[in-house]
Amino acid sequence: MILVSAFTLLWAVLILAVLGLLFGLGLAIAAKVFYVEVDTRIEDITAILPNANCGACGFPGCAGFAEAIVEGKAENLSQCKPGAKSGKPEIIRKYLDEHPNPDGSVNPIKVK
Ligand code: SF4
Repeated sequence: MILVSAFTLLWAVLILAVLGLLFGLGLAIAAKVFYVEVDTRIEDITAILPNANCGACGFPGCAGFAEAIVEGKAENLSQCKPGAKSGKPEIIRKYLDEHPNPDGSVNPIKVK
């Protein structure tokens, strides 16, 4: 039977505590350095869209179309055929009017 002295046990706990502190500090620094700011409007518009992810709009799924809308890369909101039938373009147009770009400008994308 191996006997472990209290001193050895204390060292092991101390080393683990220091390692935990160092790894935690490393993760905190990495979170700051690699932080990517996400426009919450993309998530909101994705939630408004039908979420059929059919690709009929020409973008890779509803999240892709929402990103294109926010970035001004989509031509019009009626590109989403399933959503156009249920009035989604008007809802998104109103949402964009109420949630302007960070510089204060309003996305000029049209409903049709
Ligand atoms: S057409 Fe509409 S439902 Fe289909 S992927 Fe594009 S946004 Fe989503």
